[in-house]
Amino acid sequence: MKRALAEFSHEDTLRWFESKGVKGFVTEDGGRIFPKSQDAMEVVGALLRALDGVRIICNHKVTELPESDVLVLTAGGGPGMEILKGLPVKIEPPVPSLFSFNISDSPSGGRSSVTSLMGLSMEAALSIPGSGLRAEGPLLITDWGFSGPAALRLSSYAARYLAGQAYHCPLNVRWCSSDESALRAELEALKASNPHKLLKSVHPDGIASRLWEFLLERTGLGGSRTWAELGPKWMGRLVQTLLCDTYYINGKTRFRDEFVTCGGVSLSSVKLSSLECKERPGLFFAGEILDVDAVTGGFNLQAAWSTAHLVAKTIISRYDTEIQ
Ligand SMILES: Cc1cc2nc3c(=O)[nH]c(=O)nc-3n(C[C@H](O)[C@H](O)[C@H](O)COP(=O)(O)OP(=O)(O)OC[C@H]3O[C@@H](n4cnc5c(N)ncnc54)[C@H](O)[C@@H]3O)c2cc1C
Repeated sequence: MKRALAEFSHEDTLRWFESKGVKGFVTEDGGRIFPKSQDAMEVVGALLRALDGVRIICNHKVTELPESDVLVLTAGGGPGMEILKGLPVKIEPPVPSLFSFNISDSPSGGRSSVTSLMGLSMEAALSIPGSGLRAEGPLLITDWGFSGPAALRLSSYAARYLAGQAYHCPLNVRWCSSDESALRAELEALKASNPHKLLKSVHPDGIASRLWEFLLERTGLGGSRTWAELGPKWMGRLVQTLLCDTYYINGKTRFRDEFVTCGGVSLSSVKLSSLECKERPGLFFAGEILDVDAVTGGFNLQAAWSTAHLVAKTIISRYDTEIQ
């Protein structure tokens, strides 16, 4: 992607959209860029204005590739990849990326499931035990499990691993960023200053009271225990829950609800300077059909625009044509 991004960077993208009428941008955590208006239709409007004079034909599936000196395939991921059949390119097997996790936490003994916290969003770190794969950021609890940037990022980094596990594997959640000794010190300080208060009525900084009550219950500390009753054994269990709380991924969001496809035309099959097929001159690829994918926040769209720009530039210079 370095070459494509050097040709058409995210700054070029912002300038381009501004030139087409989008009025400013905001950058959020993790480099995610949105129009200042927070209105996606402003972006759609800019794209449609740029397409003035271009004929768009909807609801027509291309089933056969035409004979042509120049052909650019931008059919996207997932079903779009059908079009690659019979072409002299290596295809990295497509698997979904950017999806949320169905979570089962087998509540027992009357304990509630994590989905009872639906709607809660907090900073957390997720990791898949034994895989070395982890991601952090805002985690959103939904009525089916985990979503939000932390879950989506992990689904992207772990797209192939999770496909290999058929989307069934354990998932560790770290609910607070302090290391173990700092967390223990914080809990001991809370205990020292609130011995007679209920555990559930005083919570560490940064942990919402709803989540705190849930985590106490999960540790086996629900009910009417006071801080003074938190002995070393229970303190150890509570620290374990806060730093390494294990759930189980039990599938992903519904088929085709994922945002992007990992896999596609192998970069080894194209010239990286032009994204032209090595085996078939004149055939180019751009966008998600290529084996390029990224986390959420506009990075996939940027990849599509940068690769398309590189292809367009090659065609213009080779065929001495003009393009806007
Ligand atoms: C719900 C959702 C949210 C997303 N959010 C983000 C985000 O926040 N940030 C981000 O960076 N990315 C996001 N993405 C991903 C991003 O939209 C894609 O990576 C990007 O649109 C890829 O562009 P593309 O032009 O390569 O492919 P596409 O946008 O998929 O376009 C391919 C087009 O080709 C058409 N097509 C395919 N096969 C044929 C055929 N045989 N005949 C005719 N037409 C065909 C398809 O119908 C489609 O219109 C999101 C995706 C989804 C689904």
